[in-house]
Amino acid sequence: MRLVILGPPGAGKGTQASAIVKKYNIPHISTGDIFRANIKAGTELGKKAKTYMDKGLLVPDELVVSIVKDRLTEEDCKDGFLLDGFPRTVNQAEALDKELNEMGLKLDRVINIDVEKDILIERAIGRRICRNCGATYHIKFNPPQREGVCDNCKGELFQRDDDKVETVEKRIEVYIEETKPLIDYYMKKGLLLNIDGSKSIDAIFEEIVNHLEK
Ligand code: ADP
Ligand code: AMP
Repeated sequence: MRLVILGPPGAGKGTQASAIVKKYNIPHISTGDIFRANIKAGTELGKKAKTYMDKGLLVPDELVVSIVKDRLTEEDCKDGFLLDGFPRTVNQAEALDKELNEMGLKLDRVINIDVEKDILIERAIGRRICRNCGATYHIKFNPPQREGVCDNCKGELFQRDDDKVETVEKRIEVYIEETKPLIDYYMKKGLLLNIDGSKSIDAIFEEIVNHLEK
C-alpha cells in the first residue's frame, strides 16, 4: 500500500501513521522526523532545516524532495510506504508524482485529516515526544502512565521547539497557504480520503482502516 497522510500541524498525522504502518507493515516516512534526527546528529542538513523549522516555515522544496526520492528507492519501500508530512507544497506533490511515475508506481490513497484551528493549537502545545523512541503523547488527550516518561521504553519526554503557540499559529498559516491546495490536487486525482480528525485516536484509526479495506 502506497499512502500519503495529509493535514494541518497537530491534526494527528504522526499518531495515525504509527498505527497504520504497524498494521500494514510498511515504512513510516516522516520528513519532520528525518529533519529532527539530522538536527540531533548535528548534520549540515539539520543545521539548515532548523533555521526554517524554528520559525514555523517550510524547509525549501529542493532539500526535502531529494531526501524523499532517495528514501523511496530503499529496499523496505518496495511493497509500500506511508509518507507523513510530505508532500507539503504542490511543487513537492508534482515531484513525487514524477518520481513514482519513473519507478512505475502510483499512490493508492491520500488520507486527509481535517481538524479545526482551536483543537490544533491545543493538540500541538500539549504534544510530548520520547527522546529515545519517538513515540508521541499528549499531556491531556494521550498521557503517559508516568509524567515525562515513555510507556514503551522509559525514555524522557520532551516538547518540540516548534510547539510554542506563536510558532504553531505560524505553521497553521503556512499550511493554509502552501499545503491546503493539495486537498484539491489529490481530490481531482480521485485519491482523497477525508477523515474527521476531531474524534478520538482509536475512532479515527478504525475509520481509516475501514476505508482502506473497502
Ligand atoms: P501531527 O503529526 O499531525 O502534527 P500528532 O500525531 O503528533 O500530529 O498529534 C498532535 C498531538 O495531538 C499529539 O500530542 C497527539 O498525542 C495528540 N492527538 C493526536 N490525535 C488525537 C486525537 N484524535 N484526539 C486527541 N489528541 C490527539
Ligand atoms: P512535522 O514534523 O511534519 O510537523 O514537520 C516539522 C517541520 O519540519 C515543519 O514545520 C517544516 O519546517 C519541516 N518540514 C517537514 N516536512 C516538510 C516538507 N515536506 N516540506 C517542507 N518542510 C517540511
